[in-house]
Amino acid sequence: MANDPVNPVSQARLHELALQRMNCGVFAVDRDYRIKIWNGFMATRSGVGADKALDQSLFELFPELPVAWLKKKLQTVFQLRIDAFTSWEHRPYLFRFPHDRPITSDLDWMQQDCGFFPLVENNEVIAVCVTITEVTDLAIAQRARDKAVAALREASIRDGLTGIANRRHAEERLAEEFARFRRSGRVLSVLIFDLDHFKRINDHYGHPAGDAVLRAVATTVDDLMREQDLLARYGGEEFIAMLPETPLDAAATLGERIRSAIASSPVSHGGAWIPVSASIGVAEAGGAVSTPDQLVKLADQALYRAKAKGRNRLIVANAA
Ligand code: GH3
Ligand code: MG
Ligand code: MG
Repeated sequence: MANDPVNPVSQARLHELALQRMNCGVFAVDRDYRIKIWNGFMATRSGVGADKALDQSLFELFPELPVAWLKKKLQTVFQLRIDAFTSWEHRPYLFRFPHDRPITSDLDWMQQDCGFFPLVENNEVIAVCVTITEVTDLAIAQRARDKAVAALREASIRDGLTGIANRRHAEERLAEEFARFRRSGRVLSVLIFDLDHFKRINDHYGHPAGDAVLRAVATTVDDLMREQDLLARYGGEEFIAMLPETPLDAAATLGERIRSAIASSPVSHGGAWIPVSASIGVAEAGGAVSTPDQLVKLADQALYRAKAKGRNRLIVANAA
């Protein structure tokens, strides 16, 4: 009959069958870390059956376990009688179980969430039960998402043609550096350069050659930058270099090296060597320059004076 109570013996058997069959790992240890429960999931994944595992020392059977960490965790549950949990994000796995996901997932072992809880009888913790839930799929998806987010972020700060930073990123970083300059009084310079007669290069050698020149110049100049500097493509053939902790004279020295490197590195394209030069303006924060926009404007004005004076030269702005 459907509503007959299940007798106690068969109910215990049902519990046992469910425990053996369930799709997560369940085991328990006593205070001596001897295994008292070992379900089917643990047996098949570890290759150690219940007949071999029961009453054995967990740490002798599985010496690769994180002994100190796991003992501490189990002790906490024994003593405080509280549940505990560990996520794969903090500890990817407890047991080195293989997973059946593609090898391309670059995860070496089954990723696991673990639960710990006390088994209490007559007001005494007689064992701690541990559950192991496989979360490999979740970990793979999350890793893929993290990678995609990082790639998107990387793409959002880069200029597509040259691979150096784009204008938006340069403006954000300049705003941050300017704020730091105002807080700490550390010096900050910027350098803006624009390729000379670039329209002629496009007209004479073609637009793809112009693109090749932009890429080559970006690489040449980027190699001259230090760790803390940022080189960005600011417009079509205009670039900005932000130079933290660099006083005006040092920025001018670097600018001169940039000018000379560009002028002495003709770009090879389609069998031709294309001569390139740039005009440069340099300016330093401070004095009348109290915003990032003013700093850029000052460097830009110096750049235009360099153009007016005949190009392929550097002018240092006078902020006063
Ligand atoms: P100046 O010495 O005064 O700077 O002269 P210029 O010819 O360099 O200046 P102008 O601003 O007249 O021309 C810039 C040219 O740069 C015009 C534009 O077609 C070209 N340009 C802008 N972006 C790109 C790009 O991504 N690729 C190529 N090949 N050309 C570009
Ligand atoms: Mg130009
Ligand atoms: Mg220009």
